[in-house]
Amino acid sequence: MAKALYARDPWICHLCRKPAEERELSLDHVIPVSMGGNNSLANSAIAHRKCNYARQDRPIQEFQDSITDNSEWLLSLAA
Ligand SMILES: [Zn+2]
Repeated sequence: MAKALYARDPWICHLCRKPAEERELSLDHVIPVSMGGNNSLANSAIAHRKCNYARQDRPIQEFQDSITDNSEWLLSLAA
């Protein structure tokens, strides 16, 4: 399943839309499991571990809004 995902979303974090290196990657749920999401490929996406952790169970849009003006966050991902 991870392979199919990488073929679909090659190394781009779906949360911050920045490139991600393999060691930074985790699988995130588009709709959190706690909100009724499932483990299907359609509901899975690649995300930085940091982004995944910081997002928690928030809607993606809310997370993206929270980092839009946070250049420190984006810089920390590149470190
Ligand atoms: Zn990210």
